[in-house]
This record gives sequence, structure tokens and C-alpha cells, in this order.
Amino acid sequence: MKLHEYQGKELLRQFGVNVQDGKVAYTPDEVRTIAREYGQPVVVKAQVHVGGRGKAGGVRFSPTIDKAHENAEKILGMDIKGLTVNKVLVTKAVDIDAGVEYYVGMIVDRNVQSFTLMASAEGGVEIEEVAAATPEKIIRHRVDPVTGLRPYEAREVAIKAGFKGNLNKIADMMVKMSKAALERDAVLVEINPLFIDADGTPLALDTKFEIDDNAMYRHKDLLSWRETEAEHPLEIEAAKYGFAYVKLDDGNVGVLGNGAGIVMTSLDVVNRAGAKPANFLDIGGGAKAEIVYNAVKLVSKDSDVKAIFINIFGGITRADEVAKGVIQALNEGILTKPVRMRIAGTAETEAKALLAEVNSPLIQMYPDMFQAAEAAAQDANNAGEKK
Ligand code: GDP
Ligand code: MN
Repeated sequence: MKLHEYQGKELLRQFGVNVQDGKVAYTPDEVRTIAREYGQPVVVKAQVHVGGRGKAGGVRFSPTIDKAHENAEKILGMDIKGLTVNKVLVTKAVDIDAGVEYYVGMIVDRNVQSFTLMASAEGGVEIEEVAAATPEKIIRHRVDPVTGLRPYEAREVAIKAGFKGNLNKIADMMVKMSKAALERDAVLVEINPLFIDADGTPLALDTKFEIDDNAMYRHKDLLSWRETEAEHPLEIEAAKYGFAYVKLDDGNVGVLGNGAGIVMTSLDVVNRAGAKPANFLDIGGGAKAEIVYNAVKLVSKDSDVKAIFINIFGGITRADEVAKGVIQALNEGILTKPVRMRIAGTAETEAKALLAEVNSPLIQMYPDMFQAAEAAAQDANNAGEKK
């Protein structure tokens, strides 16, 4: 989950990192009120999940209250890389010429199977540009996830990066940032620019903070920060059921299986049969009838879906439970699209018996996944032609 700058700063503040005072506003009038309250120059900053806001005109220094209001009018509603700005952060401004801009960050780094701390004296600009043009100006240091970043390591990195200022304070700030990253299960925390004032004291002017989605269960206090407007409504619903679900573009066959591997195979098989998968949906291992019922209900809601391909290899998932779930959806009138299934393994015979009893043309079982996928592809493509 990506956090907005104001949210990332809030977390950093909780860990003792020095950040500017700031408040969120949704209208130019609210911005005016905040600017008046601060009684000093402010910066009005677009809050959207994308970097490079400054270059796009989404970060504006505002020396007066009127200027803050005017800048808010410019920024609110603007489009930055396809995202509409509907809120801004108003922060007390610093005199950037009176100090220097550095970069520090922590990322989950597969190459070192741990976190990597990064530091560069080339702050303010996008770090990707520094990495491309002058990679030697970025100092990297592996951080042990058990001990965390230790102060002497942080000092060493700061010195190697050529940081000037109060190195103890800067190192202490880096340790606090890394604590925030580790304790909040971040995959990325960046502070750019890290401003060092004339006294050598560090201040985080901007932050990118991204939390591992798979760790969100440990950060329930942050769930209200999740913004679902950008997500597909079916993905939001799937998240409620706990399904691994991804909506795919231009598909016509709903796909459902037990396990990420079998679902990915199923997507390939649908493609091979000449149709397009409309989604990825993994119901997980050992699914009971109710879960299957919910999955069928979800996929049926997708108006792109013209037929459903179910691919189950029954180990801990019982085929009869799968059949019961599908039949329940049929009986409740939720299932209106043809279901073509391959269910093999545990309780396969029982499943066949249940389906034979129902004997609906909407539900057909096939001996292998290729035949089931071909039948679903044909149904879906035919339904498309009829339109
Ligand atoms: P980004 O472009 O999305 O990374 O947004 P930033 O928050 O990093 O802001 C972009 C630039 O605006 C920074 O690199 C700074 O040069 C400048 N900026 C940010 N805060 C202040 C401030 O308080 N005072 C001044 N003078 N400039 C600032
Ligand atoms: Mn920045």
C-alpha cells in the first residue's frame, strides 16, 4: 500500500524523525486558513500517489496567504500523470537556499535478501536519475533485519555519501527512519529531499512510504488510509472475501482455480483455446462450498464474463465441496453463465454424482482441463458474436 506524503510523514514523526508542521486541505479556502494560522511562507503540495510532483507543478512555494490560496486553486483538480489531485498538504516552508538537499532511503532488496539503506548527497532530484547517470554517488549498505540499522553503520554511510552537517543527528535520523521501515513492514521508505539546515540539523521535506500489502494484517490501524477509488470494484469485493483476485483487461472467460500455479496455467489454457481470461482468481487450498459459492458469485458479477472455467485439482480441496458451491449459485439464480469445469482428485466421484442429479446445461464437467477450457472459450466467443 502506497502512502501519501502526509501519511508517510505522520509515521516518520511517530518514530521521532524531524518533519515540518503540515495540514491537509481539500479547498483553497482551507489552505488560506492554514497559511494564516502558520503566519509564515508555506508550501502547497499535491497529494497523489506519484513522484515528480514538483516538476509537474504540483508543489508550490507560497510566500503569502494570498499566494497560498492562488496556488491551491492551481493545484487542486490538476492532473498529475493521470491522477487527479483532490487534496493538498500545506507545510511550513523552509528556506531551501540556506541549507542542502540530500537523499536517504530504505528498500527491500532481493539481491541482498534484506534491506538496503541508500544515501546520496545528490538529493532533491529524482534518485532514479542519479542512479542512471552517476550510480557511484549513491552509497548502499545492507541492513540486518534482526539488529536493524546501528548508529555506527549510519554514520559510516553518511560519511561515505559525503554528508555535511551534524553527523550524529543525521545518523540518528537514519536509524529512526530504518526503525519505521522495519516496524511498519515497508518495502520502500524514501526521504527526498532530506534537508540539512544551516545548523546541520536534518529535516524530512518529502517522503515516499510503501507498506507490504501482505503485512497489512499487522497494521490494521492504517487500513483507513487505503484508498479504493483507484481499485476495480470487484477487486475490492474480492479483498473482503480474502481472495487473490486480479481483474484482467479485455477478457471474456472467468477463471477460478485452487492455487496460484493452477490458475496461471488456466489463464494460458484459455488463451490457447482462443478466448481471453477476464480475471485471475485463486480460491486457495481446502476451500469449502461457501467459498466456491462466493467465488462464483463474484465472477458472475463481471459483465465481461460470458463463460466460467473452473479448474480444480482436488487434494485438500474436495471436488464435492466445489460442486456444492456451484450448485448453490445455480439454485439461487446467481449463476446465469455457463460453467465448464475440470475437477479431478479427492471426492471426484461424489462431485460427478451431485452434478448429474442437478443435470443443468449451464454446468458441465470435462475429463481434462483442455476440454473444459475449450468449451468455455467456445461459449464465451459465441456469446460475444450474438451481441
Ligand atoms: P516531489 O517533486 O514529488 O518529489 O516533491 P517534493 O516534496 O520533493 O518537492 C519538490 C521540490 O520542492 C523539492 O525538491 C524542494 O526543492 C522543493 N521544496 C519542498 N519543500 C520546500 C520548502 O519547504 N521550501 C522550499 N523553498 N522548497 C521546497
Ligand atoms: Mn521528493
